[in-house]
Amino acid sequence: MTQTALALTELKSLLNEVCDLNNANAVLGWDQSTYMPSGGGATRGRQMATLEKIAHEKLTAPRTGELLENLKSYEQELPYDHDDAALLRLARRYYEQATKVPSEFLAAFSEHSSNTYLAWVKARPANDFKSVQPLLKKTLDMSRQLAEYYGYDEHIADPLINLADYGMKASTIRALFAELRSELVPLVKTITEQPLADDSCLLQHYPEAQQFAFSTPIIKRFGYDFERGRQDKTAHPFMTKFANGDVRITTRVKEHDFSEAFFSTTHETGHALYEQGINPAFDGTFLDNGTSSGVHESQSRTWENLVSRSRAFWSYYYPSLQQQFPAQLNQVSLDTFYRAINKVQRSLIRTDADEVTYNLHVMIRFELELQMLEGKLAVKDLPEAWNAAYQNDLGITPPNDSNGCMQDVHWYGGRIGGVFQSYTIGNILSAQFFESALKAYPDINNEIAQGQFSTLHHWLKTNIYQYGSKFTANKMIERATGRGLDIAPYMQYLRTKYGELYTL
Ligand code: ZN
Repeated sequence: MTQTALALTELKSLLNEVCDLNNANAVLGWDQSTYMPSGGGATRGRQMATLEKIAHEKLTAPRTGELLENLKSYEQELPYDHDDAALLRLARRYYEQATKVPSEFLAAFSEHSSNTYLAWVKARPANDFKSVQPLLKKTLDMSRQLAEYYGYDEHIADPLINLADYGMKASTIRALFAELRSELVPLVKTITEQPLADDSCLLQHYPEAQQFAFSTPIIKRFGYDFERGRQDKTAHPFMTKFANGDVRITTRVKEHDFSEAFFSTTHETGHALYEQGINPAFDGTFLDNGTSSGVHESQSRTWENLVSRSRAFWSYYYPSLQQQFPAQLNQVSLDTFYRAINKVQRSLIRTDADEVTYNLHVMIRFELELQMLEGKLAVKDLPEAWNAAYQNDLGITPPNDSNGCMQDVHWYGGRIGGVFQSYTIGNILSAQFFESALKAYPDINNEIAQGQFSTLHHWLKTNIYQYGSKFTANKMIERATGRGLDIAPYMQYLRTKYGELYTL
C-alpha cells in the first residue's frame, strides 16, 4: 500500500468509529424518547454525554489532523464529485468545527443549556419571562462567543447558521425572507378576511388502532421500508437513524384530532425516505446523512404538505378514510374534509400554524435572532419586540409571553442563532424541487391521484436522497433545479392551491 492509501484507510476507520459512537448514542436517545422507564432518566443523560465526549475526543485527536494534512494533496487531485473527495471535505469541516471551540467552553455551554431548559419548563406555564431573562442573556453571550470561536467574514450569525444549513448566509437568507414576507403578509390578510374553514370533522373520536390501519399502508406506498425501519409512539415526534438499514420514525397520536398523527407521520416519513434513500455504500460514514436541515425539512414538507395535503391525494384516499371511519366521515364531503385539513388562520403558536402562515412565525424568529446577535435587541426587550412583530405580520398580539417569546424550546435548550431558518428554507425548497420533478415527469400529480408515488420518489431519490451529504445544500439545489434557492415556485404553489380554496 502507498502512504496515501494507508493514511486513507486509517482515517476512514477512525471516522467510522466516530459514526458508530454517534449512532449508538442515537439508539440511546430513541430509547429515551420511546420505551425507557422514567427511572433511567438521570443515568441515561450521563451515558449519552459520555459517548458524545468519546466521539468528540476521537474526532479532534491530533492524529485526525495529521491524517487530514497527509491526505491534502490526494484530495486536491480527486474530481470534485468523487466519494473520497466528498468524505475528506466533510471530515475536514467537522474536524475544524470541532477543534475551534475549547471543550471546556462546550461543556459549560451544555451545562448552561440544561439549566436554562429546566428553568424554562417551569417558567413557561407560569408566564414568568423575568425568571429566565438572565439565563437567556447568558445564552446570547455564549452564542456570540461560539460564533467568535468559529470565526466569520460577514455576519456573526453565519457560523451558527452553518451548523444547520452549511454554506447559507444571514445576508442571503435575510433578503430571501424579506421577499417572501412581502408576498405572504398580504396573502394571509386576504385569506383571513374570509370565513374560517370548519374543521370540526377532524376533531371527532378517531381510535388509535384504526388511525394506524389507515396510515401504515400509505407510508409503505410512499416508499418507506419497514424492513429497514419501524414506527413507535413518542411525546414529540422525530425521525432518527442508526444505520443505512435502520431508519426509524416516531408518532404522537391524538384520538380527538385526526390531523395530529396522520400529518406528523407523513412528515417524519419524508425525513425517513431521505435517509433510507442514501447510497448504501455510505453506511457508517459522515456521508450517510441528509446534507442540511433545510434540505431535510424540504423532504418532510414534500410528503406532508405537497403530497398528503393535496386534493389529488385525497381524491384517491378519502373513500378509504371514510371506510375506515364511517360514523365520523360518511356525512362529510371530500370538499369539507379538504378545506378542514387546509384551514388557514392567524394563530399564536408556530407548531400549530398552517402552511400559509407558518413561515411568518419562522421569519419573525430568524430576524429577532439576528438582531439579538447584532446587539441591536437586548434580551430584556425581547417580549416587546416579539409582540410587535406578531402584530405587524400576523395581526395579533400574544396575550402573554408563554404563548409569545417563551413558546419554543430552541433558545431555551440550546443556542440563539441559526436554529429556525431551516423550516422556511425547507418549505421554499419543497416547492422548488417538486417543480423540477414535475418538469421531468409531468404526470406526477395524476399518479398521486391514483395513489401512486413511485415516480416522485424516484426523482427525489435520484436527484437528492442518494447523495446524502456528498454535496452541500447550495450545490445540490443547483444540480437538482438548475438554480439557487428561489421563492417563486413556493409562492406559485400557495397561490394555486389557496386560490382554489379562497377568493384571492
Ligand atoms: Zn421535520
